[in-house]
Amino acid sequence: MPNKVPPLIGAHISIAGGFCKAIERAQALGATTMQIFTKSSRSWFEKPISDDEVKAFKKALKQSKLKKIMAHSSYLINIASTNPETEKNSATALKHELKRCEQLGIPYLVMHPGSHLGAGEQEGIKKICKNLDKILAQASGTTKILLETMAGQGTNLGHTFEQIKSIIANCAHKKLLGVCLDTCHIFAAGYDIRTEEAYKKTIKQFAQIIGIRKLQALHLNDSKTGLDSHKDRHESLGEGHIPRTTFKYIMQDKRFAKIPKILETPDPNLYAKEINMLNRMAQ
Ligand SMILES: [Zn+2]
Ligand SMILES: [Zn+2]
Repeated sequence: MPNKVPPLIGAHISIAGGFCKAIERAQALGATTMQIFTKSSRSWFEKPISDDEVKAFKKALKQSKLKKIMAHSSYLINIASTNPETEKNSATALKHELKRCEQLGIPYLVMHPGSHLGAGEQEGIKKICKNLDKILAQASGTTKILLETMAGQGTNLGHTFEQIKSIIANCAHKKLLGVCLDTCHIFAAGYDIRTEEAYKKTIKQFAQIIGIRKLQALHLNDSKTGLDSHKDRHESLGEGHIPRTTFKYIMQDKRFAKIPKILETPDPNLYAKEINMLNRMAQ
């Protein structure tokens, strides 16, 4: 049975020229949601967002068709770092990013849980929880942090559903934590989704370990590398190791009907085509 509600599909959109430009770009692609960076993803610093910018963005967003938009945090952030300075800078940067989302009225901030850098899974998870709790204790509550499922490159944490579960379970502010499932990442981490049977089994595992209610966003990316490759290499839909039909299972999955789905595929010139394809698959 097809889903009745119009699907929420979008992509990662550039904020070049201002936050309102991103809304225009997303709408031009036929998107109904989007993901942005609220600052340069490769810098520790940012200029504050002015009240005028906030006002204009909120107004434009309200007038647009975009819903349940999200921000992605900077790639520099590692709140599990063994280097005290990096850990401190990361926690501060994440706190600032959360504030920016709250200012702009963005309900979700997606983050990579962190890399333990050799200290081990337990130590890494402990640090992540300690820092998340510190940050979330000061949060206004309007923006949730979504832990992204990872490919398991290097010492990245969050590449098993158990690790994500453990982070949430050990945080005092569980209500402000959710999960963003990335199809490329889970596939590269070893969760097969290539056949309907494999897809069902993987989502069942997710449901049993983390819980479907915790799933608040999906990143729809194909993978340049194979199952269990532990490499984070996105590919355009249908061009990589994940069959096109897998994206149809997702689009037809009633449990995900109201969950925003974001493309982070490598060619933004294909976004409009990919959004159109996903829309058709949902019908
Ligand atoms: Zn992602
Ligand atoms: Zn990725």
